[in-house]
Amino acid sequence: MCAIFLCLHIAMITIFAIYGVLPLLIYNILSIAFYVFMPFLIHRKKLTLFVLLTYFEINIHMGLAVPMVGWDSGFQFTLLGIVVFLFYCEYIGRTLKLKTIPSLYLIPAPILIYLAVYIISVNVTPPYPLPKGINIAFQVTWWLVVFSILAYILQTFISVVLRSQRELSNEALHDKLTGLPNRYYMSHFFTSALDAKESVKRYIAIIDIDDFKAINDSCGHNCGDAILKTVADLFRQECPEAEICRWGGEEFLIGGMAPKEDPIAMLEHLRLAVEQARIPYEGKEHSVTITIGFAWYEAKQGIDEWVEAADRKLYEGKNSGKNRLVY
Ligand code: GH3
Ligand code: MG
Ligand code: MG
Repeated sequence: MCAIFLCLHIAMITIFAIYGVLPLLIYNILSIAFYVFMPFLIHRKKLTLFVLLTYFEINIHMGLAVPMVGWDSGFQFTLLGIVVFLFYCEYIGRTLKLKTIPSLYLIPAPILIYLAVYIISVNVTPPYPLPKGINIAFQVTWWLVVFSILAYILQTFISVVLRSQRELSNEALHDKLTGLPNRYYMSHFFTSALDAKESVKRYIAIIDIDDFKAINDSCGHNCGDAILKTVADLFRQECPEAEICRWGGEEFLIGGMAPKEDPIAMLEHLRLAVEQARIPYEGKEHSVTITIGFAWYEAKQGIDEWVEAADRKLYEGKNSGKNRLVY
């Protein structure tokens, strides 16, 4: 922005020199010195000073320019730009945790200056009127500059808001350790599963790692974490079509609708794959087994009943030797 403003001021100096607008010529020489100095302030993160100086530079410049060369020069448009610029700087300041001035305190001045220069230009003939062609060139330039800055800033805000929303919802719905969705994410699966037609076959399976506490106790919590990650990767690999989530602790839930392949065969395959996996951690290999409780959806069941049915099967599996799929 400093570079753009610098170029604009150089162009203005030329025009004001040609048409003898002495007060604005002097002011623009000061403005050039000002915009050469600005990047240093930005570099030193002196945001408040940068905002205030730019704010005064533009307000004074436009407050002088419109009464001197007339309303048709379009200098007043930049006062609209400064309003958005202030909000953008406040956002940047808050994001970077720098000192900022609330934009709302600064906005009345450009609004009042806009009204003041309008009233002056309606009632007073400008002492330095510019030729029509120059006024048109100024109008076009100001509109382009102000619109481009507005579009850039608003687009940036939209991108930032959308990205934050995505990140927040991703964080809220995913488990950090395994990268799998968490149990809250599964509500969308349960909703569509319950809404599906009677003829659609729907299943869930609750998977619990066997004797995981003993693994944690013998090889440590970090090793337990590494095992959880590997097991989660195996779930994704072996059940690519299914919805998988970390249900809590060392329990996972897998669900699917109208499966192309037999989910029981798929889960049995998964159980074997976990049993056979050798999980390296700090030079040693570890292995775990899983017990799986499986339940098809029964007509008119609620979500809780359905999950309880799978949980009962898991419980049966745990009580009959573990490392098995019960359905
Ligand atoms: P069972 O075969 O009956 O399921 O026995 P278990 O030891 O697996 O079950 P229990 O519920 O007694 O213990 C579960 C353990 O899982 C206890 C808890 O410390 C551990 N655990 C839960 N979440 C995590 C985790 O994120 N990381 C690690 N390392 N351990 C976890
Ligand atoms: Mg458990
Ligand atoms: Mg367990």
